[in-house]
Parts: sequence; C-alpha cells; structure tokens
Amino acid sequence: MKAAIFFLGWLVVTNCYAQNNLFNHERYLMVEQQLKQRGIKDKRVLAAFSKVPRHLFVLPEYQKQAYADSPLPINEGQTISQPYVVAVMTEILELQCSDRVLEIGTGSGYQAAILAQLCDSVFTVELFQELSKKAGQVFTQLNYTNIYYKVGDGYKGWPEKAPFDAIIVTCSPTHVPQALKEQLAEGGRLIIPVGDRGIQQLVLLRKKKGKVSEKRILPVRFVPMLNKKGGSY
Ligand code: SAH
Repeated sequence: MKAAIFFLGWLVVTNCYAQNNLFNHERYLMVEQQLKQRGIKDKRVLAAFSKVPRHLFVLPEYQKQAYADSPLPINEGQTISQPYVVAVMTEILELQCSDRVLEIGTGSGYQAAILAQLCDSVFTVELFQELSKKAGQVFTQLNYTNIYYKVGDGYKGWPEKAPFDAIIVTCSPTHVPQALKEQLAEGGRLIIPVGDRGIQQLVLLRKKKGKVSEKRILPVRFVPMLNKKGGSY
C-alpha cells in the first residue's frame, strides 16, 4: 500500500516536472530571437520569460505554437498577446520587487504570471468568468501565491486594492479610464493601448506629484475593452 502511494506521488511529481519543462528549447529561442534581438534588455524581464511555461497558458490545440512570434486565440474570442508585446509592456513598467501591480484583462493569465515573477503582488481583473477561472487553475498548478484574480469590469479598476505602483491594460479602450489614473500611486506607471478598433497607440502614463504625463510608445493591435453588455469602451 505504502509503495503504491509512493509510486503515485512520484508519478504526479515527475509528470508536473515534465509538463513544465517541455518546450525548453522553444522558450530559449523565443527569448533569444524575439526578445533579445529586438532590444529587450532588462535581465529580470528576460529571466521571467525564460521561466514561465507559456505552453500551459494556451489552448491544447495551440501548444505547439505557444512560443511562436504571434498572438494566439484563447476562448471567448480573445487572444494571448505576442511574446514581444508582453515583454515591451512589462519592461517599460520598470518593476521593483516591492511593487503592487494591477492588470486589466487576465485572458490566459500569461502576462500576470510574467508580472508575478517581478513584483510583490499582481491583481488581475477579467470580464469573462470562464477565462478567469481557467487562468486561476493554471496559477494554482504553477504554485503562484502572489496573483489575486477576480471577474469584473476592469474599466473601473480594482478600487479596494488601490493604489498600485503599476497598471497594465491588455485590452483597448478609446480613451484612458479616469478610474485607472486615480488608482495609480505617486510615481506610478500605467501602460495602455488606446484607440479605435484596428490599430491603437501604446501609451505610457506616469504620475508625478499628483500630475499625470503621457508618452506614446508604439502602434499596436489589441482586442477592444468591452463592457458587460458586450459593447466597447
Ligand atoms: N493579458 C492577457 C491578454 C488577454 S486579451 C494574456 O496574457 O493572455 C485581453 C483580455 O481583456 C481578454 O481576455 C478580454 O476578455 C479582457 N477584457 C476585455 N474587456 C475587459 C474589461 N472591461 N475588463 C476586464 N477584462 C476585459
């Protein structure tokens, strides 16, 4: 009996280990070719991308393409962003180990997992219950204890947990939500794709002495920020 329990335990542990370490070579190539060669320099950011098993965040039918240089479909008509875009947005936030970070648009949970490697805690809001639940299962599987997730309308931020040192928005409204500006801490950074459907501008906002400044970063393409009725902001 003891031997059988030991064997089962061993099977579970080795299976988890094998699943996390699949695609090690693909992940290495992603970091070298898609991130380093395009100018991502922050060593902590690169280490996070080398560690997080992106293939566990995509749909099973897309596992083999998990490390490709493109976004991929997830459920509810949404997408997991291209690795390079996740890296640009992460690097620009200049995260410190003590930072508390808000993410709007949990989606697959991949961006949240990258952030969780780099800061104290991540608070992530997703409109679709199914996506939030699935991402939560992966956070548990990977033993993340510093990611807090909830279902809700991220246009309103997460006021009960504010202020945040950094806010990252991974769906696109036509304007910067006022609530998010208000939930930024002094010295806080907010990265957000803003614009109409199709093409948007990635914009970086910074709060200094209570005033918020804006800087355009690059053109991007994100899914729209939706309201609960299915319309877009
Ligand atoms: N960060 C995600 C990217 C997901 S795509 C990842 O790493 O996979 C953007 C996500 O924003 C989608 O899951 C979409 O459902 C979600 N979203 C759209 N409007 C939203 C809103 N108002 N509040 C919260 N999430 C929203």
